[in-house]
Amino acid sequence: MNIISQRSLATPGSGIREMLMLAAKIENPISFALGEPDFMTPKYILDACVESFNRGETHYTPSNGILPLREKISQSYQERKLNYSADEIVVTSGAINALLLAVNVMLDVGDEIILPDPGWSNYMGVVKQISAVPVPVKLKEENGFMYDIRDLEKALTPKTKAILINYPSNPTGSVATPEHIHALAAFVLEHDLCVITDEIYRDIIYTDQPFLSIASLEGMRERTILIDGFSKTYAMTGLRLGYAAAPKEVASEMSKLMANVVSSVPAGIQWAGVAALTEDRTQVMEMKEEYRCRREIALDGLNKIDNISCLRPEGAFYIFANISKSGLTSREFSIRLLEEQQVVVVPGTAFGDSGEGFIRISYATSREQISEGIARIEKFMATL
Ligand code: PLP
Repeated sequence: MNIISQRSLATPGSGIREMLMLAAKIENPISFALGEPDFMTPKYILDACVESFNRGETHYTPSNGILPLREKISQSYQERKLNYSADEIVVTSGAINALLLAVNVMLDVGDEIILPDPGWSNYMGVVKQISAVPVPVKLKEENGFMYDIRDLEKALTPKTKAILINYPSNPTGSVATPEHIHALAAFVLEHDLCVITDEIYRDIIYTDQPFLSIASLEGMRERTILIDGFSKTYAMTGLRLGYAAAPKEVASEMSKLMANVVSSVPAGIQWAGVAALTEDRTQVMEMKEEYRCRREIALDGLNKIDNISCLRPEGAFYIFANISKSGLTSREFSIRLLEEQQVVVVPGTAFGDSGEGFIRISYATSREQISEGIARIEKFMATL
């Protein structure tokens, strides 16, 4: 008897895990590994959560989320010229939950979905988990880590159903230009595809240009599921609050599936989301400004090191540093850096084969840690 399914065995685990397990054996390493804000969740958000629980709201909620939160989300979309009514929103337990619902609703067994490579490793995981077929397409550094439409054309087969896009990107920090988003939309329309757009980092962008969602372009809304969440913008990773926006029939299908997965998100957590979207955004802007300063320190330091080069990421809190001139593979580089200088980074290959030659550095950590970590990377490079 084999208790574990082939499908489960075929689903890859997180590539970051190996580094974290190795790092756990080392005392006080400097970690650039975690993709989560190091800030405390703003107090007004926590207060709203606790108040809800204290009111006795400790029971099931609707599987698509409480109306006040869906209304707030709908309103926040309208401010960005995206028209989603409250019944076109599904509140989930983190964006990952929204993503799992999205692939379930969109893809049948054997359907192909184009994924960014390098891309967040969980994309591969959720697609394989449902026996759909991931088709990684290389995002080239010389292309600013954006899809090349010619490569997308080559990846198409009669089974291609969808494409996933993620800007600002984890792991590269790249933010698509409006021209690129328009080109992607034209490609999608020409080949009659569906889209999943993961916009969880959309508030963490350092350019003046407003974020352009592919869902806002002509002909896109009806074929797109938009994924978003509170984890990154509001430093709420542990509260597990995300959402999806999609045309009504898609949203109600997702809500139906949600009832089979986690039933519903706890009320207090959802009231935390209402507070996040209602209160003054000063603290959120302060966190972003701090990331911006840290990005400068990290970029400046890394680009001064011989044989390391980095594109300037315009969003999220990651730098995808090119270490190919070190003569080491990404994994060798990361393991030796940990063993020799006690600095934790994530090998680019944790995000797909095309991540070879790169390491991901998360600068969601203090300025002091960033400066010290980079000084150690410099020392390490000098020994090679
Ligand atoms: N999407 C991307 C690109 C991410 O990097 C992450 C988390 O690292 C998520 C989604 C998941 O966010 P959540 O904590 O809301 O599940």
